[in-house]
This record gives sequence, C-alpha cells and structure tokens, in this order.
Amino acid sequence: MKILIIEDEPSLREVMQRALEQERYVVETAATFAEADAKIAGYSYDCILLDIMLPDGSGLRLLEHIKSLRRRDNVIIISARDSLDDKVEGLELGADDYLPKPFHTAELLARLRSVLRRGRSGGELALTAGNLSLDVDKARVTVDGREVPLLKKEFDILLYFMQRPNHLVDKAVLAEAVWGDHADQADNFQFVYAQMKNLRRKMADAGATAEIKSVYGFGYKLVPPER
Ligand code: CA
Repeated sequence: MKILIIEDEPSLREVMQRALEQERYVVETAATFAEADAKIAGYSYDCILLDIMLPDGSGLRLLEHIKSLRRRDNVIIISARDSLDDKVEGLELGADDYLPKPFHTAELLARLRSVLRRGRSGGELALTAGNLSLDVDKARVTVDGREVPLLKKEFDILLYFMQRPNHLVDKAVLAEAVWGDHADQADNFQFVYAQMKNLRRKMADAGATAEIKSVYGFGYKLVPPER
C-alpha cells in the first residue's frame, strides 16, 4: 500500500512518515503544492494525506485536480484550520475523510485503515487465489490454512499481484508500487528479480496452486489454478 503525505510542516511530516512506515506502508512525501502536483501527475497512490494550507497553494485545488483526473486514489484531508467551510468543501470535492489537527497518530492510522478498507472491492479483508490466502489486516499469508512466513517486500509483492490476478505487470511498475517512486527509474531490476525468486520459491515449497509466472523481458503475472 503506497501513501503520499502532503504536508509542509517538517516535524509533523516526519512523525506521520515514521508511524506509517512502522505499519508497513510505502511512504512518499511532498512539502509544497508544486512538489505534490508533480508526484500526483507521475504516480498513483492508495491514499493521499492532504494538508490544506501549503506555502504555495491550497490543498483543496490539488484535490480538485486529483478528482478531475478521475483517479481512484483515496484522499484524507488533514487541516489545522478550524474551518467548517474547508471541511464541507473538501468532502464535496470528493475527499474520503477529514482529520483535524492536532491528532494522535493512532487516530490517523485508524482513519487510514478504514478508508483503505472501504476502497477495496467488496470490502473483503482476505484475498485468495487457489489454496493461497492473504489477510491484508493481519499481514498474513496461508496455503491450505498453514502460514507461509514472508518478508515485508515479499508480502507487498504478493499483495500487489493478488489484487490483480491474471494481469501482466511490468517490472518497472511493480518496482514503483513496492519500493516507492523513482524505483521505476532504476538502472537495473536486480532487486526485483531477487525478491521475486524468493517469493516464488516459498510459494512453491508451501504447495500453493497459484503461481507467479515470469514473462520474459517484460514482467510477471499471477496465475490462479484453473477450476
Ligand atoms: Ca500546512
């Protein structure tokens, strides 16, 4: 799950980033309107945490822009302004939630989880492919009910594929989704190959009936067993 924090206040931005990274989110940050605008143009996020008062513009205009692009990124507005107008306008523009500052990080994490859960198709918490099951909230993967211990990146890769079975995924797109922005511009994708090799071996050893197949020169796809 990839989150973009748009917040100009450095200490708050760092606190939020640290809290989210501890919860295994991939976190990107932007400190200004211009920086945020560039990130949004180039990348998509599972959720955007959006400060309204930025030094070079209003977060509400960024929200308008995101919605005009018809993107599916969830947005939670984070604002110190004790203004009902901002809240109403933000929600009318299509924000998923509104969190007034100051807030406790536990509150932020709870709101984030709730928005992400609502955003998932059917609100289901477990994804399955054949005898393989992935519980998003518990960060747990099982084959026929037996747990398969995965490292963080292996889990993130598997989650990405289980959200889009049978879709051919370019290795650069995968790198960006799991490692963060700019990983897609890496000189080589050795880090992707290495993690993928370990993940595929663990799935095979556990007896998973679904398989992540490699498509030479392009990327990978998760193939569930035929029924
Ligand atoms: Ca601000």
